[in-house]
Amino acid sequence: MKLHLCVISNEQGATISQVWDETDLKLTFRRTVSQQLMLQWEELLRIVNSVVLNNEEDTIIWKFNSNGKYSVQSLYAVLSFRGVSPILIPAVWKLNIPPRVHIFLWLLYNNKLLTRDNLQKRRNVADRSCLFCCEEESVNHLFFDCCVAKLTWELISEIAGMKVGTNFESIGRWWISNDKNAVLNCTCVATLWSLWKSRNHLCFQEGTWQGEGQILGSIARRLKRWRMLLKKEKHVGLDHIVQLLLEEGSSPLKICWDSSTQHQVSSLARSPRVQSRPASTATPLIGPTTLDACAIAINVQTLDVAFP
Ligand SMILES: [Zn+2]
Repeated sequence: MKLHLCVISNEQGATISQVWDETDLKLTFRRTVSQQLMLQWEELLRIVNSVVLNNEEDTIIWKFNSNGKYSVQSLYAVLSFRGVSPILIPAVWKLNIPPRVHIFLWLLYNNKLLTRDNLQKRRNVADRSCLFCCEEESVNHLFFDCCVAKLTWELISEIAGMKVGTNFESIGRWWISNDKNAVLNCTCVATLWSLWKSRNHLCFQEGTWQGEGQILGSIARRLKRWRMLLKKEKHVGLDHIVQLLLEEGSSPLKICWDSSTQHQVSSLARSPRVQSRPASTATPLIGPTTLDACAIAINVQTLDVAFP
């Protein structure tokens, strides 16, 4: 149970089976709960909803591994990615973003997003490759290591005037000082959210890759919508970021793709390849090895993609 809810609960020490009938969570509290505690309550409900009761004896499990057993690899994953939680995760709920994006961040932190590696833990996944490139899709790959993510964070770093997006902690460290860094935090979260939405668009709506401008435009649109969640004195800073995003997004990017295979192998067809960018921002973010290995260069088209 979440710590603060536990402190004011009347059922401390109860087992899950005593308070959960697989429909309702029967907990009572000594006092009314604040909005933040309500969010924790909703989070708790989501966790409990995933519990399947059985008649086996209770056992201690290592929650950072899908099989419940400790391994050095899973410990490393906690230390290198999720080990930042004690400070960062409570701060998630204070960010000036819509509630569903709070939940997205919570899932992201807990490695619960249904990226293909996580989906594989539930059922067999034939194609485990990233929707943007050919490497295996994981949370860390999709949001930080993928060529598309790296290019996006490079541009966001230029716009924000500081290096962000190298990993989860490089973003999350600013959350605890959200009053000062609300615009930066909104921008970084909008970037994560836009990468996820763009990935889902390719995955579920059979969208086609339209270039980096598509993601930058998506970030700009979200920031415009989230503007009302920020204090008025932050609006000028946010508007400036939006303006820079729109300018950067409208720069024509040349994207190379294999038109002959786009309908046959989605991950190949959607592999983006930045051929040229304005000299001031040109960065060899997409190395030749991975994407060259993916791209079967037959009838390769070069498209100038303008931001809509
Ligand atoms: Zn990728």
